[in-house]
Amino acid sequence: MTGPLLPSGPLTYGTELNAVYAIARVVAETFDTEAGLDTVFRLARTIFIFDTVALYRALGRGRSHEADLPFGEPAAIEAFRSSQTVLRQEDIGPTVEGRERRRDYLGLPMMVGGRCVGGLTFGRFGGPSFPPEHIRLAEFVAWHVGQLLENRRLARRIASLEAQRELARMQDEFISTISHELRTPLGFIKGYVTTMLRQDTDWDNEDRKEFLRIIDDEADRLRDLIDNLLDSSRLETGTLSMTLDPARVEQVIRDVISRMQSLYPDIKLKVEQAEGLPLVEIDATRIAQVLDNLLSNAYKYAPESDVTVRITQRNDRLLIEVEDNGPGIPTEHTSHLFERFYRVPENSSGVRGTGLGLYICRKIIEAHGGEVGVETEVDVGSRFYFTLPISPLTIITTPEVDDESEHNNSRR
Ligand code: ADP
Repeated sequence: MTGPLLPSGPLTYGTELNAVYAIARVVAETFDTEAGLDTVFRLARTIFIFDTVALYRALGRGRSHEADLPFGEPAAIEAFRSSQTVLRQEDIGPTVEGRERRRDYLGLPMMVGGRCVGGLTFGRFGGPSFPPEHIRLAEFVAWHVGQLLENRRLARRIASLEAQRELARMQDEFISTISHELRTPLGFIKGYVTTMLRQDTDWDNEDRKEFLRIIDDEADRLRDLIDNLLDSSRLETGTLSMTLDPARVEQVIRDVISRMQSLYPDIKLKVEQAEGLPLVEIDATRIAQVLDNLLSNAYKYAPESDVTVRITQRNDRLLIEVEDNGPGIPTEHTSHLFERFYRVPENSSGVRGTGLGLYICRKIIEAHGGEVGVETEVDVGSRFYFTLPISPLTIITTPEVDDESEHNNSRR
């Protein structure tokens, strides 16, 4: 290490030594540059006399809170350009009365690893000028201020490099997940088409039908995956449009459930629904997509489990819950579940997915002014839920849109 770790020449035992030691310690230990600078200048004041201090960095200018005018800029620039300590004396002239007329500026280079990164000026009004022992102490302070600024520059650089590395890691992970997810259905489609095109085998009608059904399913999967990717990037950029209309959420849910039951005949689904639920303003297609995601997840990750869908009213919100008694999710993952591309390693091996589903659910529900959440316990099960606000307008519009409105308890 280069630089004045200790000022040359004897230090007065006591205040001076303590201050020098404290300055070195602040620089070595502080992560807060502004607070560090304040402490260093406060300590400097206890060991030599100055009226102002101003700090000039190689790029731009920053003055400590003690200087309210750009005092001593020429001295700082000269020290910065020459990497030498400079002493300048100015006589402001008769317009300034008293001791303020004479100004002494001590310009000091701030050296970091042999490179000058800026200049520091201490100013004294009304003389006498800085004696040699104060100049030595000031050089010591300037060197340490340089280290403080360098520490900040390094900390910012490290943070930015870490952020870049994290981004690159996420992009890599994303590309490998997506490639895998795209490749799997494509592999099936290509395999069955090639099989059907083989000249040496005559497939009977039943076999052909089965192959075409698989190709059809895999093409659907591919389309869903691409739709999910597009939706998630539109939701991220806020360009996915939603059209909110008054609708009965329980009807939307029932439609999704019957679609699920025909898609997965072995799914064990049960619906519990409160009476007289009010209309809500929703984009029915998007709410169906949310429920679709939650039910397919229950089917994928809790395959043996009973699944209950519950719809109730909680004050000015509808609460929709999807509960299973599957494997549950370890608590350390729950705060990340609704993030893009997040998958739970313990639950996801061998189960196809991208980690987009719950993220899309959250974004859609947030766009409706609602909330999503999960309560889960390992080996007990999971309860995913979302809420939808009931606006007074929705309730007022009920009679025009709904012929069962006389049974609606929530009408006002
Ligand atoms: P994907 O299913 O494509 O992986 P999701 O965003 O829908 O993505 O789900 C994120 C993760 O949450 C899943 O990878 C899975 O590990 C976990 N998960 C979701 N639903 C359940 C559930 N009902 N039971 C257990 N784990 C679940």
